[in-house]
Amino acid sequence: MENASARKQRAMRITTLLEEAYPESAGLCSLHAQNDFELLVAARLSAQCTDARVNLVTPALFARYPNPQAFAEADVTEVEQLVRTCGFHHTKAKDLVAMSQQLCARHTGTIPESMEALTALQGVGRKIANLIRGDVFGLPAVVADTHVIRITNLLGLAESRTPANVEAQLRKLLNPATSNDFCHRCVLHGRAVCVARRPQCAACVLCNECMFASPR
Ligand code: SF4
Repeated sequence: MENASARKQRAMRITTLLEEAYPESAGLCSLHAQNDFELLVAARLSAQCTDARVNLVTPALFARYPNPQAFAEADVTEVEQLVRTCGFHHTKAKDLVAMSQQLCARHTGTIPESMEALTALQGVGRKIANLIRGDVFGLPAVVADTHVIRITNLLGLAESRTPANVEAQLRKLLNPATSNDFCHRCVLHGRAVCVARRPQCAACVLCNECMFASPR
């Protein structure tokens, strides 16, 4: 049974291996956004949808509604049409308009920093709030997305499928200064190598740290 100290050491080794495999320090987030509000909107659209699909949809959306004020006055039906291909378009459009109205009413149209204020916005959960806190404000963040949950469970860094539990477990192990980028790199690794149902273990830089590595 691995003790807490050994697990923390392993988390550090895995962090380094991922940094070496995905050395870009900028642009780790694959959602396209010119500013913090656009990132918030793109993150909301990315639920149950690929980032690539979101990136196809957002240019026309941001051209039509360039800021929270414009979104706050938008007709929900029109927003629905623009985000239709992202799935769950009724809910997402309703959330985006309500979220923008709340941003304007509570925060003069700016993006708040605190977890409490972010998660009080309609359609914003801890995953989106963590992304904003990490990428926009440079705060310690753990984005427990589907790739992060799957890979950290494979690696024995987390033992849960529940995002809140995985976030809490990773916060105890990861360096706060690099935890946000660690999660971005897990997403990149989950897309490129540790693909669900067909992991490419022979090409994986983490194979020596993974109890599920298939034999080479
Ligand atoms: S060794 Fe295989 S299962 Fe483990 S993290 Fe790498 S690709 Fe995924």
